[in-house]
Amino acid sequence: VLERVVLAEPAAGQVRVRHTAIGLNYIDTYVRAGLYPAPMPITLGMEAAGIVEAVGEGVSALKPGMRVAYQGVMGSYASHANIPAGRALILPDEVSDETAAALTLKGLTAWMLLFEIARTAPGDEVLVWAAAGGVGAALVPWARALGARVIGVVSSAEKAAIAKGYGCNAVILSSEDVAARVRELTEGRGVKTSFDGVGKTSAEASLKSLMTRGLFISFGNASGPVDPIAPLRLSQGGSLFMTRPTLFHYTATDADLARGAAALFGAIASDTLKADIGQRFALKDAAMAHSALEARRTVGASLLLP
Ligand code: NDP
Repeated sequence: VLERVVLAEPAAGQVRVRHTAIGLNYIDTYVRAGLYPAPMPITLGMEAAGIVEAVGEGVSALKPGMRVAYQGVMGSYASHANIPAGRALILPDEVSDETAAALTLKGLTAWMLLFEIARTAPGDEVLVWAAAGGVGAALVPWARALGARVIGVVSSAEKAAIAKGYGCNAVILSSEDVAARVRELTEGRGVKTSFDGVGKTSAEASLKSLMTRGLFISFGNASGPVDPIAPLRLSQGGSLFMTRPTLFHYTATDADLARGAAALFGAIASDTLKADIGQRFALKDAAMAHSALEARRTVGASLLLP
């Protein structure tokens, strides 16, 4: 429900941002549904781009009029928000507000997965679930740019065409036996990494798709949270590795955030990454946007416009 509220002046160390574009993320549905507990009542949303309108005491690096984006601060489904100044990323000219709202959280997630966790390198064969989605639109081209061979998984022929457009070398439909198809496509080897944001319905197929000593990165729950996995299952699958990361831990310090943002904005400036905005919704239609995301009717990134 859209409500009018009075926003306080930014406190010490904060800036007030007038949003021009707001990012829609699957995590917003977890918070709304209670899978990720949060204090209620709450203003949803964790990503936006806009213009600095006012700065609190002690803020010197940001001035009114600057274009910024942020992720990981709750309350972005709004026309304005006060955020910690250290979380605001100053946008280079090459990064438009809409691109920033589409790619700050999702692009940093791709950075975390590829550079901080998997260390994807030329020749790696990798599996990307939901390859036509918001994170997929960043993860697939970036993995390709690093020299990986990318196999995508999607739910429909239309999404397969989109995933190919992002750079997938091959695409599997989730209705197929994904692990068997991965073995065929890799001459029996299996992939080095499975980037899996689907969760409950994909975890077992991810494990079965890995090469010996492969890495299962479970980073989301689009189909529900993953059931417990016994350590012996990893041993029997080929001395596998598993991690369950959250971007907020990889961007917790301002220095880590700045490192990720430099990589992300560099990738956008060099055209390695382009925002693919599949849907735009008015902010007042946020509920409709959630329904579309949860019903798998979106492709690429979705924006809410205040
Ligand atoms: P997407 O745009 O990728 O949308 C989710 C996609 O998941 C759907 O389009 C659908 O693609 C697929 N999917 C598979 N099964 C289901 C199901 N039962 N219900 C709904 N969707 C399903 O979302 P985002 O890009 O926002 O996020 C992708 C994933 O990455 C999410 O799990 C999200 O939580 C996670 N994430 C994790 C972060 C972290 O820090 N750990 C940070 C950012 C995102 P298809 O129809 O092709 O199957």
